[in-house]
Amino acid sequence: MKYTEGSEIRDTKAPAGPIEERWEKRKFSAKLVNPANKRKLNVIVVGTGLAGGSAAATLGELGYNVKSFCYQDTPRRAHSIAAQGGINAAKNYRGDGDSIYRLFYDTVKGGDFRARESNVYRLAQVSVNIIDQAVAQGVPFAREYGGLLDTRSFGGAQVSRTFYARGQTGQQLLLGAYQALERQIAAGTVEMHTRHEMLDLIVSDGRARGVIVRDMVTGEIERHLADAVVLATGGYGNVFFLSTNAKGCNTTAIWRAHERGAYFANPCYTQIHPTCIPVSGEYQSKLTLMSESLRNDGRVWVPLRKDDDRAPGDIPEEERDYYLERIYPAFGNLVPRDIASRAAKNVCDEGRGVGSGGLGVYLDFRDAIGRLGRDAVEKKYGNLFEMYERITGENPYDVPMRIYPAVHYTMGGLWVDYDLQSTIPGLFVIGEANFSDHGANRLGASALMQGLADGYFVLPTTIGDYLANGPYGEVDEEAVAEAEIKVRTRIDRLMSVNGTRTPDSFHRELGKLMWDYCGMERTEESLRKALERIPELREEFWKNVKVSGTAEELNQVLEKAGRVADFFDLAELMCLDALVRTESCGGHFRAESQDPDGEALRDDEHFAHVSAWERTPSGETVLHKEPLEYEYVKMTQRSYK
Ligand SMILES: Cc1cc2nc3c(=O)[nH]c(=O)nc-3n(C[C@H](O)[C@H](O)[C@H](O)COP(=O)(O)OP(=O)(O)OC[C@H]3O[C@@H](n4cnc5c(N)ncnc54)[C@H](O)[C@@H]3O)c2cc1C
Repeated sequence: MKYTEGSEIRDTKAPAGPIEERWEKRKFSAKLVNPANKRKLNVIVVGTGLAGGSAAATLGELGYNVKSFCYQDTPRRAHSIAAQGGINAAKNYRGDGDSIYRLFYDTVKGGDFRARESNVYRLAQVSVNIIDQAVAQGVPFAREYGGLLDTRSFGGAQVSRTFYARGQTGQQLLLGAYQALERQIAAGTVEMHTRHEMLDLIVSDGRARGVIVRDMVTGEIERHLADAVVLATGGYGNVFFLSTNAKGCNTTAIWRAHERGAYFANPCYTQIHPTCIPVSGEYQSKLTLMSESLRNDGRVWVPLRKDDDRAPGDIPEEERDYYLERIYPAFGNLVPRDIASRAAKNVCDEGRGVGSGGLGVYLDFRDAIGRLGRDAVEKKYGNLFEMYERITGENPYDVPMRIYPAVHYTMGGLWVDYDLQSTIPGLFVIGEANFSDHGANRLGASALMQGLADGYFVLPTTIGDYLANGPYGEVDEEAVAEAEIKVRTRIDRLMSVNGTRTPDSFHRELGKLMWDYCGMERTEESLRKALERIPELREEFWKNVKVSGTAEELNQVLEKAGRVADFFDLAELMCLDALVRTESCGGHFRAESQDPDGEALRDDEHFAHVSAWERTPSGETVLHKEPLEYEYVKMTQRSYK
């Protein structure tokens, strides 16, 4: 895949001055829209997860006319509902030394110095408001005996700042956002369109002005116009086929926007989560996360010697290797995810992995149960233990869990400036769909924080600045017609191939290829292989895919085929991005770039930048670099020892 280098991105719109004043400054300088004018302005929000749900509810409350879209049958089923462990906030309820500055510092360091300081500081500032907002909505966070909200620890932090609702934090937060959204639907400010899939972005006079969607029940193609469009469409980890994401998660919305000119930033930054239930067979279609919160009390270990096939209970203490505690004594089992994942891979590569195929390590609660009692452990993690037992048939109160890393989150996404606006004016991107805030590795419990910060607090302010110059007038009919024809033509093309292979079988093959060549470890050789193989597979897809049924009805095979087609193009860009970035950083581990201890070795001289990829109207690929400057946190080699 060829590319050229384009101009540098110098202005991200973050105000200058002391970092703690920047967000205040931006809020004050953002133009306001008076209430009467808000009623004349239309905003489309695609996505109803924590980011989109909170944004649509807040924009509705502010008085804009909002149209909200999701592909599920209810906003409540967005993937955010799956989030288990918790949400970070710098409340310092524990008095253990936390502060906005510390959350900012931990996030920049955790992201391996590949995130923007201004954005991350704002995230840490806003984090405290999120908890207040959620509590006011009635989100049932866990509480301590005295009534204060309880917290627990997550990876990459030495303080306890993660607020949680048992192992169902995402669900409870989403119910809060959903209630706020429903209130606006009832008030008439938000028009809800469930089971509608956005298939293209309408760009008129250089501005995002609407979307083309397919009614997934009738197959009808519809056009919806607005003064601004917000994408809150989540992450694309399912490019790997097997991941912890909900099966429906895909890249279509952001990829089609990319094809319309929105830059795609850092596509190769993928998070591999260390604590997932290991793959059990060839025909598995989904992986299950065991929340990182379990590492608060669970101890990770493998047998000291290779090929030790004794049952875990028969392996005496002195023949166990608690390798995270041994290698990283300062953070122990709570090292960040990228570090814990690689360490698990290393011990398995040494032949010390457990379970069938040797791709697993133990997460053991024996000591916690001994120390706290079974009841206390059950109170904290009961639903997770039950889930584990149902899937594996093993009781984790009696035998250690077996876990292995799996694809979990994508730090890459559409490029946005400080206002969360993409390179297409009027197109805003929030939540996991954008690239901001997490750098090359996201810390646990920070995705919910970012999604809700974007949706409840940041976007509603910054989009006002854009809308203050609206309404933006008539939308060019030709632009709308062109987008609609493009969508119809693509559907016709998919329906007419009439080959022999299902979209799923192509997806599985693509996913395996991505895992093998662009997964936990990448090399120049593996990435070149992937870049050779992906176009061949894509060609076969367009010649041999079989989409059964018709386009004028509920057709999940057609939905899948469209998404897999976009995954091919995205996969290619991910591999190119990974190939060009010859350093290792966070979740992007290039085997050629490691220090003597096998840790990721950054190359700040050449790669302290965001890689923002443009696709030109003629289909060329151009790389723009946004330099990253660190005024507050000194760039160092990360150490958790
Ligand atoms: C198992 C699991 C556990 C997790 N636990 C935690 C945790 O404890 N703490 C934490 O901070 N993070 C956690 N995460 C990460 C976190 O859940 C996600 O990053 C976050 O929920 C994403 O929210 P979102 O609003 O950006 O997108 P999503 O919740 O993914 O919502 C996407 C929305 O976009 C819609 N959509 C997408 N494409 C289209 C389209 N083309 N047309 C129409 N609608 C579309 C969908 O219908 C959906 O409504 C976890 C992730 C997983 C997989």
